[in-house]
Amino acid sequence: MDAAQQADLLNAALEGKTPEIRKAPNTVVELMCGAFNKDTNSWETTATVRELNGFDEEALASLDSKNIVYAEYMSALLKRAVVSIGSLAVADRPTIVDELIIGDRDLLFLGIIEATYGKTREYEVKCQSCEASNDVIVSLDEFERKKPKQDPQVPMKFTLTNGDVVELRLPNGMDSQVTSKKAKNVAEQNTLILARCLVSPNVKNAVDWAKGLGIKDRSMIIKALLDNQPGPQIGEVNAQCATCGEDLNIVLDWASLLFS
Ligand SMILES: [Zn+2]
Repeated sequence: MDAAQQADLLNAALEGKTPEIRKAPNTVVELMCGAFNKDTNSWETTATVRELNGFDEEALASLDSKNIVYAEYMSALLKRAVVSIGSLAVADRPTIVDELIIGDRDLLFLGIIEATYGKTREYEVKCQSCEASNDVIVSLDEFERKKPKQDPQVPMKFTLTNGDVVELRLPNGMDSQVTSKKAKNVAEQNTLILARCLVSPNVKNAVDWAKGLGIKDRSMIIKALLDNQPGPQIGEVNAQCATCGEDLNIVLDWASLLFS
């Protein structure tokens, strides 16, 4: 119980009323696409996340940082700190976090940062113009949240140069892990993304299908899949130097949000 809650209880006792306990820090994250629940045949879009603790810190530190890609690290983090997605408990079915689109995973990540540190994070930034030191407070709300251009639960339709219509879904956490691990270059990455995200037509070998597509069709689909991935854009933060007024160039990434 924090001081404010204690004060509420005390005031309530003095006034003879039933106290209203203040809500704990927000640990509910509303997802844009969510996870599909096969039992109920519906999408689960409300997730609960928890604060990171020392067990998590040690477990994450023990991951071999040289041989692990970003998407794998994010999966390890989400499998620990996402408690549930709708009625699905992540502890019972950890792979569910790999089925989420990348934008939802980034939303959960920011939710975990908020549950752990609160809504703001403070950074000491040295001004590149006057070298003064600035304490910059960054709110997690500052990151632009790209809204979905179309319903992310519905596969996207594309008309190929030859007139055929194909359907692909948005890339998820597992697609991201597999492509970053297996592909040796961007062309192979594109092939894997196209093959994995293909929903229709139903083909025997999706990799061969993806390789057989014309380069123009491949780049059109890849670009649309990337453009339509909604979610928070973690990156640049605007702030001015308190001493000279110049812009401070602050670029945050997931690691600076998580550890510094
Ligand atoms: Zn300055």
